[in-house]
Amino acid sequence: MTNTKHLHITQLYPRDMNIYGDWGNTLSLSRRAQAHGFTTEIVDYNPGDPFPTETDIILGGGGQDSGQTIIQEDLHHIGPTLNTMAQDGTPMLVICGLYQLFGNEFVTIGGETLPGIGIFNARTVGGAERLIGNIVEESPEFGTIVGYENHSGLTTLGEGTQPLATVTSGEGNNLEENHEGARVHNVIGTYLHGSLLPKNPAISDYLIRTAAEKKYGSFTPASIDDSLVEKARAVAMSRPR
Ligand code: GLN
Repeated sequence: MTNTKHLHITQLYPRDMNIYGDWGNTLSLSRRAQAHGFTTEIVDYNPGDPFPTETDIILGGGGQDSGQTIIQEDLHHIGPTLNTMAQDGTPMLVICGLYQLFGNEFVTIGGETLPGIGIFNARTVGGAERLIGNIVEESPEFGTIVGYENHSGLTTLGEGTQPLATVTSGEGNNLEENHEGARVHNVIGTYLHGSLLPKNPAISDYLIRTAAEKKYGSFTPASIDDSLVEKARAVAMSRPR
């Protein structure tokens, strides 16, 4: 290990947006960064808090429509900061409910429009059916990604926003297209809970590498034993939907 450097991880809205173990992403990312030789600090950001002055990586979880309504107004307060950081290359990972609100808007099944902060050129409309179950997808950069989806929102991507992966088992962004998630700058949005990062360390490594290169100009990865991860991935992929 050659890095003796520090990474600040900001976790958005853990009080209201944290279902299906999304908090596990934060723990997993922090441990992974430590395994690569970094010291880490996790800061929780909840509505009304001062936005942390130092942030190297941003994570955000999913939530019910009600959770999304609670954090909406605050998200718009910090939206310009998040947009600037995204354009500046700060790595971010947002899951499900926050993925939807990082788009242009989310129209709920009840017909309420929750405006998003427009980091992704994407629009989500609540559907009558819930898309629930284990999901496997292929990404050119991250290989096979495995997780669990549970959403009724159907997301359509617009110009300039790329999907994260092609779905091989499950539904993904919507019922018509076989892609899932979104990417723009160094921001990843996805419907995958599970938690995502413990089973997909390639995504953790991407977030850590991007943050380290931005902050320190370079990243020297440690060699990490992923044999337990491989077992967990194999079990997850063998499960029926
Ligand atoms: N409420 C949103 C939906 O069902 C998000 C759900 C979630 O974050 N799991 O589409």
